[in-house]
Order: sequence, then C-alpha cells, then structure tokens
Amino acid sequence: MPTDCLFCKIVAGAIPANRVYEDELCIGFPDINPQTPTHILIVPKEHVASQAKAVEKHKPLLGHLMMAAADLARTHKLDRGYRVVVNTGDEGGQTVQHLHLHLLGGRAMSWPPG
Ligand code: 5GP
Ligand code: ZN
Repeated sequence: MPTDCLFCKIVAGAIPANRVYEDELCIGFPDINPQTPTHILIVPKEHVASQAKAVEKHKPLLGHLMMAAADLARTHKLDRGYRVVVNTGDEGGQTVQHLHLHLLGGRAMSWPPG
C-alpha cells in the first residue's frame, strides 16, 4: 500500500471515517464534502489506483463494489433512484488516486454532467 494514500489510511484505520458498511473486500463511509443528501464512498481494501488500472484479476472486485452500492442504496432507502459514479483520471475529475465508487442520492440530479 502506498503510505501516502488517503483511502489506504482510512481502510487501515489511521484516519477516522464513519464506516456505514464493511465486508471482506471493501468499506463504505460518508463523503466529507457531500454533493447530495446521501453521498457514500465505497472503497476497496486493496489499493487500486483507478478504474483505468483495473486488470482481469479485479473483475470480481468490480462486481462486488457495484453490489455493495446496490445494498447500500437499499439500506439508505434511495427508492426514488440514485447514481453511482467512478471518476477516473484527470478529465474524469478523480482527486483521490485510490479506486472508489460514489453512491449519490436523496435529490433529483441532472444529466449530462458538467
Ligand atoms: P474523487 O474526486 O476522487 O472522485 O472523489 C474523492 C472524494 O473523496 C471527494 O468527493 C472528497 O470530498 C472525498 N474526500 C476527500 N478527503 C476525504 C476524507 O478525508 N474523508 C472523507 N470521508 N472523504 C474525503
Ligand atoms: Zn490506496
């Protein structure tokens, strides 16, 4: 694990986060700067720098993260809909270089993104 990775530090417990979800492969915790009433980050315990760095061995992990998002959406009662976002690379708006899903919900959202 890169010692300077923010999300690796959160996974390790070195930086606190309110874990609203945890299983053997990932954790979920609220975004520090929420963009919607519900804004949860779903972060794999393994350091993968971005979706662009995912390789064949990560295929089950990627499915697992999507399933965790579906489960969290149900437990947070996002019955009217929600969005799952994976910002990737500079043009994708990624600011933390550790793969993560944003689970966004609780208000209507527009499309396309800015
Ligand atoms: P990205 O821009 O890479 O897609 O998403 C990174 C997200 O991490 C941002 O939405 C940002 O608000 C969130 N974030 C950055 N630092 C922290 C932190 O220390 N704790 C939590 N909970 N979220 C953070
Ligand atoms: Zn990391």
